[in-house]
Amino acid sequence: MSLRLGWLAEVLGDSPTLKLSSQAKALIEAGEPVINLTAGEPDFSTPEPVLAAARKVLEDGRIGYTASAGIPELRARVAAHYNARPDQEVRPDQVIVSNGAKQVLYNALSILLDAGDKVAVPVPYWVTYPAQVAALRGEIIPVEPTAGWKITPDDLDRAGAADARALILNSPSNPTGAVYTRQELEDLADWCRRGDFFILCDEIYEDLVFTDEGHVSLVQVAPDLRKRIVRISGLSKSYAMTGWRVGFGIADVPTIAAMTRLQSHSTSNICTIAQKAAVAAFDCQAEVTAMRAAFHRRRDVLVGCLRDIDGVRFEVPAGAFYLMLDCREFIDPERREDGCWRLASHLLETQKLATIPGKPFGAPGHLRLSFARSEDELREAVGRIAAGLREFPG
Ligand code: PMP
Ligand code: GLU
Repeated sequence: MSLRLGWLAEVLGDSPTLKLSSQAKALIEAGEPVINLTAGEPDFSTPEPVLAAARKVLEDGRIGYTASAGIPELRARVAAHYNARPDQEVRPDQVIVSNGAKQVLYNALSILLDAGDKVAVPVPYWVTYPAQVAALRGEIIPVEPTAGWKITPDDLDRAGAADARALILNSPSNPTGAVYTRQELEDLADWCRRGDFFILCDEIYEDLVFTDEGHVSLVQVAPDLRKRIVRISGLSKSYAMTGWRVGFGIADVPTIAAMTRLQSHSTSNICTIAQKAAVAAFDCQAEVTAMRAAFHRRRDVLVGCLRDIDGVRFEVPAGAFYLMLDCREFIDPERREDGCWRLASHLLETQKLATIPGKPFGAPGHLRLSFARSEDELREAVGRIAAGLREFPG
């Protein structure tokens, strides 16, 4: 009998975002003058009140297990945070605290899907959606938008999304920064009412929206769909707390209870220090506002500089801190499939600029640029993109 790993070990690749971002960080630590636009994380420090709360927990020294779904104080704080916004109604028992939004998503997909089930995923998508669905022996139905980066009911019909057991809606989007408006969500809600499936609303970038309308959630426009919606969010992005691993899921009680049972057998509870400190984060709205304003200015700097490069195309991101740069003009059409990988390597080798190729997000020929960087770095980065594109063999 030969010793072999299971099927998942064969099929699962690294997270390209995490891998390329660690490679860029390692180059910088080794003294290379790399500008890192891979990072899916804010470059700000965690707000001081959260750090102070964590120090207090350490001094207290009682750091045991907690309830699997999270400490009652934090679940109540999450519920109160949403209840302070219009058209929301969240009870603490409808909240689970998990190791980042990533584990919320995995818990949710695990309890919603049976093997072979399909999940409709708008393209381009965050790299982890297809990976998690595949790990659970499901299958994605890619939903291609016809115009711009946002999908419409027609796009869902065309993709055959009605066969799916779940739909993932990510607004603001990683990797495009696209944000669905209230009207667009109302149209999507009408389409959702025609079927009987779950909707996973990944709203991890909800506080990073630069439009006047701001972030609108599907739960606000379609209260009748709430039983079917699992909302995924957390503190990683808006509160500069990626390493604390505090994500939360909000859903109907039976859904949250099942997710909690799974979590009780997988990771028990999230780090107790992080949970206790996380309660303080909700009082840091001034910090969140200041970080959002900084991202907004950086977005404007990046967009302003990119407009000076002939041949690249992009949509102005309305939220999050990513921009998808269409570089197809510079790529040999015969070699388009891996063109963005070759371009990203070329930029890293010749210009010391780290980006993420669009292919793993389902958008070959594009580069994902993170603007979680200083304005000066962004100006310099665009200069490097322009120089790198001039020399790129295609
Ligand atoms: N959803 C999206 C769209 C993301 O970009 C990320 C980034 N990591 C996550 C979920 C997971 O966030 P977390 O760090 O809280 O696990
Ligand atoms: N979500 C971030 C990104 O896309 C962080 C890395 C990850 O978790 O994939 O870069």
